[in-house]
Amino acid sequence: MNFSNLSFGATIGIIGGGQLGKMMAQSAQQMGYKVIVLDPDTECPCQYVAHQLINANYNDEDALNRLGQLSDVITYEFENISAPQLKELVAKYNIPQGYQAIELLQDRLSEKQTLKECGTQIVPFLSVTSSDELIEASEVLGYPFIVKTRFGGYDGKGQILVKDASYLAEVEQLITHQECVAEQFLNLEKEVSLTVTIGNDNQITYFPLQENEHRDQILFKTVVPARSDKEQEARKEVQKIIKQIHFVGTFTVEFFIDKQNHLFVNEIAPRPHNSGHYSIEACNYSQFDTHILAITGQKLPDDIELLQPAVMMNLLGKDLDLLETEFAHQPTWHVHIYGKTERKAARKMGHITVLTTDLAATEQQMLNHFEGSNN
Ligand code: ADP
Ligand code: MG
Repeated sequence: MNFSNLSFGATIGIIGGGQLGKMMAQSAQQMGYKVIVLDPDTECPCQYVAHQLINANYNDEDALNRLGQLSDVITYEFENISAPQLKELVAKYNIPQGYQAIELLQDRLSEKQTLKECGTQIVPFLSVTSSDELIEASEVLGYPFIVKTRFGGYDGKGQILVKDASYLAEVEQLITHQECVAEQFLNLEKEVSLTVTIGNDNQITYFPLQENEHRDQILFKTVVPARSDKEQEARKEVQKIIKQIHFVGTFTVEFFIDKQNHLFVNEIAPRPHNSGHYSIEACNYSQFDTHILAITGQKLPDDIELLQPAVMMNLLGKDLDLLETEFAHQPTWHVHIYGKTERKAARKMGHITVLTTDLAATEQQMLNHFEGSNN
């Protein structure tokens, strides 16, 4: 069966119903597709906008097959799906994103090894699974270094910054439960990311380079265009990666820039990414639009046009009260609320994008309003 070029009326199945699934669904519906989402949470953000919710765990084989049978194409919104299970599904159903990216990228160690094989510049790293390897890491990398779990980490979860030997006991505890990687800690000048979409004819569409600030290892702010001369170099790094990893759809590469202005690839997200959310209002196509175009086999726009510079800030649980006190009187701010029922201080509950002609002034204005939340 030829699945390419699905026209409107076709059904898109999404594994994962968080905010990324929800925003994918909104783009899909604008283009006339139906959406079925699979998620264990009956109150997940995507269920508000999907035609149907399959309420099941991500590894529920029957439910995944039901999704496959009901959908013309399947996509996923996060990388922690079981790779072997996805591989089986890819053999049976139309899943243009494939399983290779998930297989390589859900394990930080194989991700880093793959990036090394691609010839990209990455931060020195070592596998750490025992006390001996931990000591070796401290000797090879020197203090400070950072230890990250190989599997399941996001928003800085499962990471320990090892400032000196007094932190080793904490890491010992972690590695008795989980395999880890250790990497050199960089004195960062800046973080940037590049979101791209690959069409199923291998066409590459680039979004503008994004400048990111993290607080407590969670993305706090994205400014576009990035104030950096690294856009072309970042594109070259992405091209090296695409040569090695088969993928269709939207993905993002996160980069570090150190004080010597060297660019390092940090990690890859094989899906739309938080740092690309600004594209909904600031670009002629959003990262979700191009993702849906790619997985339905349609032609991608050659270039993404940044209609106006933008600042995006995340709304975490601790910021939500500011909606009424600080943000209500900002009619030009684009406020997105994901609709998560459980509010936690560090959980991403929404985001705000502001289009501007003066990035520095807008950043300052937004910061002033966020200050009430003790950021
Ligand atoms: P996650 O999967 O949680 O996003 P990352 O590896 O991207 O994990 O780390 C989250 C953030 O922590 C980064 O965006 C950066 O701000 C900081 N960080 C991680 N690794 C390093 C490092 N080696 N040097 C300096 N900062 C780092
Ligand atoms: Mg990251």
